[in-house]
Amino acid sequence: MQHPINHHAQPALPRGEDVALDTPLTIGFSFLGKPLEVRHWGNPTAPLRVLFLCGQHGDERGIRRALGEFVQKQLAGLLAGMPHLQLAILADANPDGYELGVRQNAQGIDLNRDHLRLEAPETRAIHRFVGAWKPHLVVDMHNFPVRRKVLQQAELRLDWDVCLDYPSNPASGLSTGHPLLQSLMAALKLDLEANAFRFGRYCVFDSKNGVRHGTPHLVDARNVLTLRHGALTLLLEARNPSSQEDRAQRRHVRQAVARACEGILRWCQLHQTELATPAALLSTQARIPLRFRRPLSPEGFLAPVADLHSGEPSSLCFPRYRPQTQGRRHVESPFAYAVPVAAHDLLRVLARHGFQSYLAARGERCIVSESLYGGVGPQPPADAPRLPRMSSLRYERSLEGFVIFPFQQPGAKLLALMLEPESVYSLHRLFTRSNKMQLGSLCPVRRVLLPCSPLGCDFFFEVAS
Ligand SMILES: [Zn+2]
Repeated sequence: MQHPINHHAQPALPRGEDVALDTPLTIGFSFLGKPLEVRHWGNPTAPLRVLFLCGQHGDERGIRRALGEFVQKQLAGLLAGMPHLQLAILADANPDGYELGVRQNAQGIDLNRDHLRLEAPETRAIHRFVGAWKPHLVVDMHNFPVRRKVLQQAELRLDWDVCLDYPSNPASGLSTGHPLLQSLMAALKLDLEANAFRFGRYCVFDSKNGVRHGTPHLVDARNVLTLRHGALTLLLEARNPSSQEDRAQRRHVRQAVARACEGILRWCQLHQTELATPAALLSTQARIPLRFRRPLSPEGFLAPVADLHSGEPSSLCFPRYRPQTQGRRHVESPFAYAVPVAAHDLLRVLARHGFQSYLAARGERCIVSESLYGGVGPQPPADAPRLPRMSSLRYERSLEGFVIFPFQQPGAKLLALMLEPESVYSLHRLFTRSNKMQLGSLCPVRRVLLPCSPLGCDFFFEVAS
């Protein structure tokens, strides 16, 4: 059920330099109608724009407090020496969850798993602000729990004070590492460790003692904001102190967050030229990876741990380490995608992302490729030749009754990942009942390879709402 407050008109957002300092900017409203407020800091005409996004998870109180202290004690002085940088801070992205003491928003949606579908008003407001203000860098701030199943038996807990990670979806071109990001990781590690903080690249542990760096899926802010808006989005995770830790240890974590924030801003100032030209950083390759694999690395992963009771720090080696996410099953970009007008759920998601589209004109004919599902069922044995999962038919047809999404538009790679029939993120599954395509069924989304006549341009969905 829609909450009545969500029918409030969306506030107008400023573009680029047009922001007033000292007054918070309301960028939208939470599900229960609380304002989502952004504060701007630094020189409002500075060329490099950075956004700190904090509190998507309502129960992560430590990171909110740490960011608050950093802003109060250090930020103004720090930015005075950084004339080329301006900062926007959304200190509480989930005020309802914070008040209720829960991770999700008041609808029960985990906001950092909602960035593909944008079902929550909070994530829609974040995307709308990022699309309008166009930050070059976003830092998405969280707390991580120190207790992990794989460490519990050995009476150990995770012992980073703060860690960082970068986009993990291969379509970003960053998932296998980038020299600029390596320089940031190295600079932070050097600085934080010199100040007695434990720092590393954030990772998750699976039940088989395997280690990897978070999900490559298109669910979280770091992957989807990066692909949709070209805003490089980093994940900053601070330790949520265990109940055994005292006030001094809690303060130590907050100081680590402040040090990391300062380090990130200093690195931005140093690399402003590269950061201000996204093409230098984000992948512009034409081929789009639809799936991914995570090869095992010969080097293990050394996790910083501490004794659960005494707090004594040590390290633990995990031999099954998968540091990289590599793309596979690439496709060439088409001219456009055609989505049936009847596919309301799918069109609604694309409209929330603000993708440009228009209704195909009457009699408009194109060369299209249509995809038939051919391989749903048990996997063939490993030594058997791999059957194509999907077969494509290519012919000229009328696109009456279809909405056309040209590939040449901002965020095109995300559009392709959402619409390609073979993509693991294909949204056409949204409007098949079982979420599974039946053998021999036709994918409703068509790839438009070539227009046969000049295309019409009646706008269909223009703006996300
Ligand atoms: Zn979180």
